[in-house]
Amino acid sequence: MTGAAVLLHGARDLRFGSVPPEDLVPGRVRVAVRGVGLCGSDLHYFADGRNGATVVTAPTVLGHEGFGVITEGERAGQRVAIEPAAPCLRCPVCLAGHYNVCPDHTCLGSPPAHGLLRESVVVPAQFAHPLPPAVSDEVAPLIEPLAVATWALRRGGPVAGRRVLVTGAGPIGLLVLQAARAQGAADVVVTDVSPQRLAAAGALGATTGEPGPCDVAFDCSGAPAAIRTAAAALVPGGTLVLVGVPGEPAPAFPLQLLQRQELDVRGCFRYGPGAFATAIALAASGQVDLAALVTARFPFAEAVTALTTALTDRAQLKVLIDF
Ligand SMILES: [Zn+2]
Ligand SMILES: [Zn+2]
Repeated sequence: MTGAAVLLHGARDLRFGSVPPEDLVPGRVRVAVRGVGLCGSDLHYFADGRNGATVVTAPTVLGHEGFGVITEGERAGQRVAIEPAAPCLRCPVCLAGHYNVCPDHTCLGSPPAHGLLRESVVVPAQFAHPLPPAVSDEVAPLIEPLAVATWALRRGGPVAGRRVLVTGAGPIGLLVLQAARAQGAADVVVTDVSPQRLAAAGALGATTGEPGPCDVAFDCSGAPAAIRTAAAALVPGGTLVLVGVPGEPAPAFPLQLLQRQELDVRGCFRYGPGAFATAIALAASGQVDLAALVTARFPFAEAVTALTTALTDRAQLKVLIDF
C-alpha cells in the first residue's frame, strides 16, 4: 500500500502524491477505493481553492462520491458504497439520530478532511454500505448523490399521487426526479436554464416547461430565482425542500406567501440515517437509470484531466474516475 492520492494544493493546483495510510481501529474498516464521481463542490475547490467559507489551507484529497472493496476489518472482501460522513457520533444531536447536522460534522473531501481520490480510506464500519451485484461498478459511485435524493424525498414527505416540481436539472435534480417517479409521483415538472439539462430531464420522464401548481417542490439549484419560482408554484399547504445550497446574497424569500398559504419550508443537508440503504435498494430495483447521468470516465492516472473536463465542459453531468 503506497497511499497514492491526488492532492489539491490550491486553486487549479492538483498534484499526485501520497497520504499515509490511516490506522485501523476497532469498529472501522479499510476500503480500497475503486471508483469516484466528481461533484460540484469538488469543482469549486479545484477552481477557486475554496467552496463558500471552506478554504483549502493544506494539501487535501478531494472526492466524496465513491465505492470500493473492504480489505481489512469486518466484512473483508465486500463491495461497499462509502458514506463520506464524519460526525462525532457522541453529541446529543448524533445520539438523537440526526448525525448529518452534528455540530462537529465533517465530510470526507471537505478540507481539511481528506476525501476519496486515493488508494484506500478507513471509515466507520456503519458507513461502509454493502452493495448487491445488481449495482454494477460502473454506476456504484452514484449511490452517494442518489442518497442525497432519497433523503430529500424523505424530508419532503410522501409524493405518491402528488404533483412534484424540481428546480435545477443537475445530477441531484435528475436523481430527485427519478426517485420521485419511482415513488409514484403523479407528475414531475423539472425546470432549468440549460436546454441540454432539460432535455436530459425529459428523457428521464420529466414534464418540462412552465411549472403548474405543485404539492411538493425540491429546489436543487440554490438559485434565488428558482427558489422563488418553486415557492410561488406551491399549492396552499405545500412543501418546499431546499436541497441546493442557496447562493449569496441570500435570496429574498416570499414570507407573506409562506405565512398566508401555510407553506412548509424544510432544509435538507446531505443525508441522514437509512438514506444509503434506501438509495442502494432503489438502484438495485432498476427503477432509476444511473448510467444515464454518466457523461465521461477517466482512469485514476488522468484524474487532473477528469477534474478539468468536469469544470470546463458544461455538457458534462457526472464525470467518474476509475481506479
Ligand atoms: Zn457531492
Ligand atoms: Zn455529533
